[in-house]
Amino acid sequence: MNREEILINNFYAVQNSLSAVCQKSGREPKEITLLAVTKYAQDQDVLTLLQKGLIKHIGESRVQQALARWTSPVFASFNTVKHFIGHLQKNKAAKAAQLFDFVDSLDDLHTAQALSKAVPSGKTLRVLVQVKLTDKETQSGLPLDQARRLVQTLKELPGLKVCGYMAIAPQGAPKEQLHQLFRTLKQAFDADFPAGKERYLSLGMSEDFEIAVEEGSSLPRIGSKLFAEHLEGL
Ligand SMILES: *Cc1c(COP(=O)(O)O)cnc(C)c1O
Repeated sequence: MNREEILINNFYAVQNSLSAVCQKSGREPKEITLLAVTKYAQDQDVLTLLQKGLIKHIGESRVQQALARWTSPVFASFNTVKHFIGHLQKNKAAKAAQLFDFVDSLDDLHTAQALSKAVPSGKTLRVLVQVKLTDKETQSGLPLDQARRLVQTLKELPGLKVCGYMAIAPQGAPKEQLHQLFRTLKQAFDADFPAGKERYLSLGMSEDFEIAVEEGSSLPRIGSKLFAEHLEGL
């Protein structure tokens, strides 16, 4: 298989897993938006999936790198929804507010205020608050109670629309624990973001997206399973 065929195979392997988990858990596939994490991907690989019309929501974790890529004419010619998913430094907030449609990893009021000030007029920047699921100091995000308070504060900031939670599962956690962590966050999400309005719960990455979708994720973030060098099994 050539590279293009591998990429297309990877994509459909992920699609098939998503369909299977929807069927298993009684969810509608259309409730789920695949966020293709392009941060480590080669330009040509990203272009291949864009040209085939297979991906629309993309995730980047470095502002500078994302700007260089997504403002270049060939990338800018595609109609994409751009999500920032990394740690946002306050001094990069202005650039982020211009390039991105979503900041999925907000965990700090000062950064939120900087974003709010910098959002171009007429634009609404969607934001998700990142929740920390472990006690590890190295993980970004806020403990759930603080995250919930930040959501209430963000509702007051012009230019921003707070519409959900994002979280990264602790590495190497057993499946049972993942189910439990995701389920707890889903309950808070349902309470804080009523159904019927625009809302996103972004849980799950390449290794745990099936569990995450089973537990209610609507925006799984998938990088390596899409862009791996080798073929993902169908
Ligand atoms: C890199 C990254 C991903 C994608 O991880 P994979 O395991 O490659 O799918 C998802 N979410 C965040 C926040 C990331 O930084």
